[in-house]
Parts: sequence; C-alpha cells; structure tokens
Amino acid sequence: MTAADVWLDDKARHAGYADAAAFAQAHALKPYRLGQLYRAATKELVGTVGAITVLPRELREALESQGFPLESVAPVVVQRSKDGQTTKGLFRLHDGNEVEAVLMEHWGDRTTVCISSQAGCAFKCAFCSTGQAGFTRNLTPVEIFDQARYFARELAQRGKKITNVVFMGMGEPFHNYDAVMAAVKLLNDPAGFGLGHRHITISTVGLVPQIERFSDEGIQVNLAISLHAPTDERRGRIMPVNRRHPIADLMAACARYAAKTKRKIFFEYVMLEGVNDDDASARALAALMRGHLYHVNLIPYNATPDAPLRGTADARIRAFQHILDAAGVPTTVRTPMGRDIAAACGQLRAQTQPRANAVSV
Ligand code: SAH
Repeated sequence: MTAADVWLDDKARHAGYADAAAFAQAHALKPYRLGQLYRAATKELVGTVGAITVLPRELREALESQGFPLESVAPVVVQRSKDGQTTKGLFRLHDGNEVEAVLMEHWGDRTTVCISSQAGCAFKCAFCSTGQAGFTRNLTPVEIFDQARYFARELAQRGKKITNVVFMGMGEPFHNYDAVMAAVKLLNDPAGFGLGHRHITISTVGLVPQIERFSDEGIQVNLAISLHAPTDERRGRIMPVNRRHPIADLMAACARYAAKTKRKIFFEYVMLEGVNDDDASARALAALMRGHLYHVNLIPYNATPDAPLRGTADARIRAFQHILDAAGVPTTVRTPMGRDIAAACGQLRAQTQPRANAVSV
C-alpha cells in the first residue's frame, strides 16, 4: 500500500465508508481527486476540506456536509511551558478517547514532536503514568500521523518545521506494529509529509519478536529500547514485561538488529533513586553495552503522582554517567523539558481522566 492509500482508506473509514474505493464511488471521484485530497492534507497541511481550493466547490461542500474532517485528533487542552520551548496537547479521538503529544523546540531550528501510538498502554511500567491507567485501544495510522500534522501546522505559522518525530508518547508502538509502520510511511512520504526516516525514532519497552521483525523492514528509522535496569531482578521490579522478555533475550535481539542493520541503538534509562542508580548498576549496564554501537540516554525521572518512586539527584546522575564514560559507553543525559506543564508520558491525561489503582513496587 502506498502512503496515499493508507491515508485515504483510514480517512474514508473514519468518515463511515468501507474504504477509499467506496468513498470515491459515493462521490464519483476520479483517482486524481483523491491524490489532491491527500496532498492538501499531508503536504500542504491545509486545515479544512473547505480550504482545498483545487477541489470543485460542490465537492468541498459535499465532503464537509458529510463530515470528512482532515483532522482525526481534536485538541482539548494545549499548554505551553513558561520558557515557550515545550507545547503539550491533549487530543480527543472520534470515540472520546484522549491521547497526548508534545512539541519541543530546541536550539536553532531543531524541533521534536513526541506522539502516541495507543490510547493507554498495556505494559504497566511502575514509573509511567500512562501504564498506570491501563490499555484502551490502538490508534489508527492517521490518528497517529495527525498528531504530527497538528504541530506541523502550528509550527508553519511561525515559519518552522518538524525536524524529528519520536514515538515516545502514550502506548507501546510495537504493540500496535502495523499501524505504527503505516504511520511511519505517512510521515516519510516524499510526495506528502516528507520527513526522512533517520529523523524518526521508535521507542519500545523491549518486545523481542517485533524487534526481530523491525530488523527486516529495511528502513533507517531509529530504534530506542527502554531498558531502565541492567539485571532481570531489578528490571522485573519496575517493568513487568521483563518476565516475558528477559534481558538476555532482549540484548540478543538487539545484537541481531545491530548486526543486520548496522544501525546504532539508543538505550533509555530512567534514573530512579535507590532502584537502578547505584555504581554496581552502572557497571552492569556498561557490561551490557560493551562491544556494540549502543548509546545510553539517561533520563531524569518526571515524578508521577501515584508511583512511590523518586528521581535520582543530579550529582548521582553525573556519577553514574562518569562510570559509563570511563567504560567507553557513549552516554547523554536527557534535558528535561516542560516540567511545569507535566509533559511526561501520560501526565496530562492523568489530570483529566480517572486513574486505575496506584501501583506499588
Ligand atoms: N512504550 C514505549 C514508548 C513510550 S514512553 C517505551 O516503553 O519505550 C517513552 C519513554 O519515556 C520510555 O523510555 C519510558 O520508559 C519513559 N518514561 C515513562 N514515564 C516516565 C517518567 N515519568 N519520567 C521519565 N521517563 C518516563
């Protein structure tokens, strides 16, 4: 399927048709009209069907009256951090579910949009507020893509563009594998949105079969692994998924991915006081990284209300990084952004929707 087919099918389904062909037939549309719709939405970032001036007026009116919205996500709350660098949106889907996406504007023209792949999440990581609320449903490719489109339109007003997209919002991208790959196609399409594969990062909790599958995609999308602890005992305490995919299996899958794709892997490591931040953990982490093109990203913890966990103090993060540095492991510490607007995964929705029971570790 081409990116345009993905978009048209998904949009047609949202509008109540079986697929793009049924939609085209209902409106007696020639194929080039479908192409015009697709380009207007994904390349020209037009806001509404009514504003797609290449389409005949009667067609625009017919589509508008039948409810063929170009947006499948509607902003409910949009907050901007005091420093203006982080904008967070809570978006409502057609069935009332809500997901979050965040725009980060870095130095220069670099911008990153963090998008969600599922409403909720099934994996229940102890430190993550999305996991604490449980899983609701998968997003469709267009619902995923439209989060990026929303911020692309917002940036365009200021003469800026999205330079990076990360699948680090709500949900587990590899638990919604096909839709995420279709969304990547939409983001990447040179005839549409046009974002290079190397500017896209998928972050996973560590689902081994999907890492294997991803190794064979033949695309240069970046892979990030949420490792968070270097032993099964410790990882199992904060990430239930470790019981199904223990560290040895995960690292073996990563090694195969790296060998096959020759691409660097990013390992995310949320620094939690007294849980995974001691010297022994740093040495064990360094041992797991040794001999590969692996990069560690240490993440200062964004405290979530229900988790009885605390973030590691800055000095300890630096000491931990020093051990990794000394062992020759490339390591960066992620700069927290948007803390004043609770911009970590799932935190905004947690304020508007009730949570399931608090977790304990
Ligand atoms: N399910 C995917 C992507 C979603 S979260 C994954 O697990 O990778 C993106 C990253 O944010 C993950 O590394 C996740 O562990 C981390 N994260 C979640 N909650 C956090 C919090 N409160 N503070 C800091 N990082 C958090």
